[in-house]
Amino acid sequence: MSTTAIRSPQEYEGAYEAYYAEAAEEVRAVRVGEKETSEQAAIVARHADLFTRDQLEALRAAEADASDADGRERLYRLHKACEGGIVDAELAARKDELENALLAARLTFDGEELPLRAAEARLAVIPEYAKRDELGELVRTLDSSFNEPRRDLLAARDGLEGGLSGERDAVARTEAEKQISLRELERVLRQASEDVSAEYERLRERWFERLLGPERAQLPTNAHVRWLRRLSPLEATYRKERSVEVCVETVRQLGFELEAIPNIRLDLEDRPQKNPRACVIAADPPEVVHLVTRAQGGLSDYQAFLHEAGHALHYASCDPRLPWTFRALSRDHALTEIYSFIVEAVSRRPAWHALHFGLSEAEAEEGAEATRFLEALLFRRYAAKLRFELGFWDAFPAEAGGSPRDYEPLLTAATGIRYDERGYISDLDAGFYSADYLRAWIRSAQLGAYLQHEVGADWWRSERTGEILRGLFAEGTRPTSEDVARRLGFDPLDTGPLVAELNAA
Ligand SMILES: [Zn+2]
Repeated sequence: MSTTAIRSPQEYEGAYEAYYAEAAEEVRAVRVGEKETSEQAAIVARHADLFTRDQLEALRAAEADASDADGRERLYRLHKACEGGIVDAELAARKDELENALLAARLTFDGEELPLRAAEARLAVIPEYAKRDELGELVRTLDSSFNEPRRDLLAARDGLEGGLSGERDAVARTEAEKQISLRELERVLRQASEDVSAEYERLRERWFERLLGPERAQLPTNAHVRWLRRLSPLEATYRKERSVEVCVETVRQLGFELEAIPNIRLDLEDRPQKNPRACVIAADPPEVVHLVTRAQGGLSDYQAFLHEAGHALHYASCDPRLPWTFRALSRDHALTEIYSFIVEAVSRRPAWHALHFGLSEAEAEEGAEATRFLEALLFRRYAAKLRFELGFWDAFPAEAGGSPRDYEPLLTAATGIRYDERGYISDLDAGFYSADYLRAWIRSAQLGAYLQHEVGADWWRSERTGEILRGLFAEGTRPTSEDVARRLGFDPLDTGPLVAELNAA
């Protein structure tokens, strides 16, 4: 084996930046359906000299020698990126294989052959309850046929990460990286979930009846979640054709001209293999930020667009003078999710529904209540998911991910929707992303309370909000979610504003 040169941290950052942009563009191309196959393995192989154990050691040594907090943090993130790259290099071929098999997977529904992803997207738009159940079962069966390779990959990743970091315990490893206690977070969230349960049950009864109709099962399956999230029976109000225009206008009222920011590249096209889940891919922030959505009609188009616009504005507004690491790398996603959540939260204001959809006050209240129902549903689902994931990883050394454990009972009890246990592994978020969402739930509600206090009830259409957000965005990915809490004057685990919002108290 030839020895490769060890780069200085500065050189490493530059070389890693180039790799990162290339890998991000590949993710984008596959995700938006421009490419039929994923070739991450080839990209990792081209940059293989970035991902050696000697290089990792050199970055760690530099981190230990760093004299200031920023320098140390920057080197920590670079060393974690190097570690992640070593893992990816080992697993890239298998990951591509799984990804490509998922892209190729087909099922037959109503005599029509559908790719798995297209079938998932279709669940949002089939009006007949029984038909959604039928397709949902086909999707679950096909999707869970990949559980074995998924589990193998998880185990391989866990083993590699444990070995490289020196921390074998997945929960402890994640806690060190996120700098929080996952168990403490879960405890606080379990209480918050409990504190909104009476209101959630009231909303659920009402909105299940409205959205699923009287023929629904006592416990509908999760085949109906996409239909619910679209508020499909209200799709005449939340029309597909208007989503971009309304969202661009919504963001403009916050002081951001989305279409005048050339760094944000919008991809709104409809392609058969395009993943229905909207996303932002910040390939080279602040210069190149892709915002990808696939409109299907219904309220979820608006919410997804606003959510992703929050991410895109964050990345595209970071100070270009920051070191690249603090523009692109983070310990986790809890920070950027605050900004996506707060922009999406505008869609829960009754006045927003009145303003954009020509609704009466009563209709606007209805629309806003529906969004609050969806928000409570998702929040309770994620709180339950975190609880499941903690148990899953605690048991991982013994079970190797072979058991769905309490996935079905926990998620079903939290939502009133039956989550089939076969979904336990494809529903698992890598690196406890669920905890990042949940921290963002707490934090964006705190930020909302702060804006309400500083700007007033009209914060969602005030340029002053934009100024406050710009100040936060400029810092790039440097702060933690908990830093933001302290700046807003909140304890990081204070769920008061979140509970109040979900209860409409
Ligand atoms: Zn997000």
